[in-house]
Amino acid sequence: MLLEGSPSNPSQLIDPMQKKVSKIGVMTSGGDSPGMNACIRAVVRTGIYHGLEVFGITRGYAGMIDNDINRMDSRSVANIIQRGGTILKTARCKEFMTKEGRAKAYENLKSHGIDGLVIIGGDGSFKGAQIFSNEFDIPCIGIPGTIDKDIAGTDFTIGFDTAVNTAVEAIDKIRDTADAHDRLFIVEVMGRDAGYIALHSGIGTGAEHILIPEKKTDVEQVLASLQEKEKRKKLVNIVVVAEGDDFGGANDLAKVIKDRIPGFDIRVAILGHIQRGGSPSSMDRLIASRMGYSAVECLLEGKVNVMVGIVNNKMYYTPLDNAVKAKQKISEEWLKIVKILAS
Ligand code: ADP
Repeated sequence: MLLEGSPSNPSQLIDPMQKKVSKIGVMTSGGDSPGMNACIRAVVRTGIYHGLEVFGITRGYAGMIDNDINRMDSRSVANIIQRGGTILKTARCKEFMTKEGRAKAYENLKSHGIDGLVIIGGDGSFKGAQIFSNEFDIPCIGIPGTIDKDIAGTDFTIGFDTAVNTAVEAIDKIRDTADAHDRLFIVEVMGRDAGYIALHSGIGTGAEHILIPEKKTDVEQVLASLQEKEKRKKLVNIVVVAEGDDFGGANDLAKVIKDRIPGFDIRVAILGHIQRGGSPSSMDRLIASRMGYSAVECLLEGKVNVMVGIVNNKMYYTPLDNAVKAKQKISEEWLKIVKILAS
């Protein structure tokens, strides 16, 4: 996987002045993703193993501001590793964007004696964490929880693998009915800014074309290819489109194809929020457990404001700043594979 941004040497991320943490808070923030519960469990149990007090903050930054903060013990995370969603709930919180909101959040954390935070979320949540810990003296460790896999400094984000598996399962089913009727299905998957779900699920289901935001869509080329395949009687069943593709969504593409190639019997399927839910895959449970464990270790070692990632199967630490700004690049080779395998 190609990564942009330069990761730091882990030893540079340790603040020697950092006081030892004793009470930590954990929360899920921003978009939810399957595997967040497995991660909460790992944070809580690793913290308790090391003698820390662990607090669950409900609804992310909103719960921090509302003082919805409760002590957790080992039993409070029993039987959740296999559950989708997040027992701590998640939210988006405008008030945290203001200095007054963040000051309120800080006062609440202090009232519980919380001196370290683990934030499971996406780049927006990391941005908030970075600003918060610059203003107030609380080290924050980020864990990438997003189905989109659009964060640099890690090969995996919690929820991505499950979302891809959900999409693959759905597209396989769509293919059966598409095949029965000789229909062309345009399937829209999630990914406003990132095409990874489209790319992985499209390759995994043998899609004819995969349209993603990272690559400018040449609609004339897509039309020409479909026309050429129609001429040589190659059945085309599936085109996968990421919701954020520059040309538009599945409906936009279907309209153009209908207008230009009336011979195709076209249907659109928008997979939507099913991609966010469901029991996490074994892969997501594994990375969530490793990242949750590692985040607590980071706080104990005095690392400040880093995101925990996994690169080449090793734990990897990126300053929250870089995790915010950098995006992963789509490999040109993968796009070539799509073309060759669909010929
Ligand atoms: P995600 O973490 O999934 O990317 P969002 O972008 O919605 O989700 O961010 C989650 C929350 O993080 C926001 O609702 C807000 O409370 C906080 N946040 C995001 N950006 C900032 C910012 N620039 N300053 C302060 N808080 C922020």
